[in-house]
Amino acid sequence: MHVRPKKSLGQHFLTDGNIARKIVSAIPGEPKTLLEIGPGTGMLTKIILESNNFEPLFIETDRESVEYLSARFPGIEEKILHGDFLRVDLKNFIPDHYQIVGNLPYNISSQIFFRMLEDRDRLQSAVVMIQKEVAERISSGPGNKTYGILSVLLQTWFDIDYLFAVSEKVFNPQPKVKSAVIKLSRNRITDIGCDPGFYFRLVKTAFNQRRKTLRNALKPLLAEKDTSTITGVLSKRAEQLSIQEFISLAKHLKSTIDNQIGTRY
Ligand code: SAH
Repeated sequence: MHVRPKKSLGQHFLTDGNIARKIVSAIPGEPKTLLEIGPGTGMLTKIILESNNFEPLFIETDRESVEYLSARFPGIEEKILHGDFLRVDLKNFIPDHYQIVGNLPYNISSQIFFRMLEDRDRLQSAVVMIQKEVAERISSGPGNKTYGILSVLLQTWFDIDYLFAVSEKVFNPQPKVKSAVIKLSRNRITDIGCDPGFYFRLVKTAFNQRRKTLRNALKPLLAEKDTSTITGVLSKRAEQLSIQEFISLAKHLKSTIDNQIGTRY
């Protein structure tokens, strides 16, 4: 039995067992529940199932891959969900705290990270292979051109480790881009001190016009008065702000907005 790689599903199957082992060995020991996104033809799956360190679950959107995996790994049927990670009801499928591993479909990696952010109360860590450029973006800090929405949002709730780069040669079919493996570990922050929905909106709005000063980029969010105490921050651009500065700015703006009577918020 053979799985025909489908470009539309971002299928680039890993062919190098050493890299697969390196990825799996980077997964922390706890919690035991481990969700593999997109097992495909099972390069990582085999090592996960052999290790006994985990209580694995799998989600795969490609029917052909699910059939292949069921034939190759007897008993996996009870642990694999044929579905879309972006749509599945995670709370229903995974009862408790968990970790993620996967060689992700690169075409939807950003959406996958936003889902991880949504489930940050339960997701403890993730070791994922993604496009190298995206890995660099997510790991970069302020003052860097690649620092953006996902860098700020992920780094607010996760510590990011850039682990290693992977050549395009070890995939079938070979992708056009280089790859890298990163590890996300949930930090201690549970409450940033203001509504997370507002924080998300602020970060997105700030970077939407990243060349402008925040005073201009954030016009839609600024209350009409009393921004005087944060004038310094507002004269900067989004890419110059640390995570702490983003959080303080969100708290300040949210409380200013909430205190204004008769505004549209
Ligand atoms: N882990 C395998 C395959 C990686 S390719 C390996 O390393 O060889 C990416 C995999 O993600 C493919 O199997 C693809 O079918 C699957 N996939 C794509 N979109 C998905 C989605 N929305 N939800 C779950 N799996 C998805």
